[in-house]
Amino acid sequence: MFCKNCGKEISDVADFCTACGVAKGKGENFCSNCGASITPGAAVCLNCGCAVSKPESEKSKIIAGVLAILVGSLGIHSFYLGYTKKGIIQLVLSLALSWTFVAPLGVGIWAIVDAVNIFMGKMFDADGKPLKD
Ligand SMILES: [Zn+2]
Ligand SMILES: [Zn+2]
Repeated sequence: MFCKNCGKEISDVADFCTACGVAKGKGENFCSNCGASITPGAAVCLNCGCAVSKPESEKSKIIAGVLAILVGSLGIHSFYLGYTKKGIIQLVLSLALSWTFVAPLGVGIWAIVDAVNIFMGKMFDADGKPLKD
């Protein structure tokens, strides 16, 4: 396989690239399958057609999902994933309109939908990276 950071070939048993020192599988500049450079943001390698896996988020699917279920109506899971604006909207709707009962209920349902998407892997963090398991 090839280093995704510098494009040099690395041995299958090595954990780090001997050329640049980056951990195997880290980086998003080169295809790990053929070593060709990759257009930023491309989903597949234009040279060999192999899928380019985006680096995983540091954020955990479990933590984000549990936060969405337990304190989702306060937008905590949104803050956790880096969606500050969305978190503030959820928090403000819940608190400012708590007397309406409808708003907190709506945000609660919104949070449950978020939780389902998080657990199904359909929700990414604010950088667009898939959440880790
Ligand atoms: Zn390298
Ligand atoms: Zn390739």
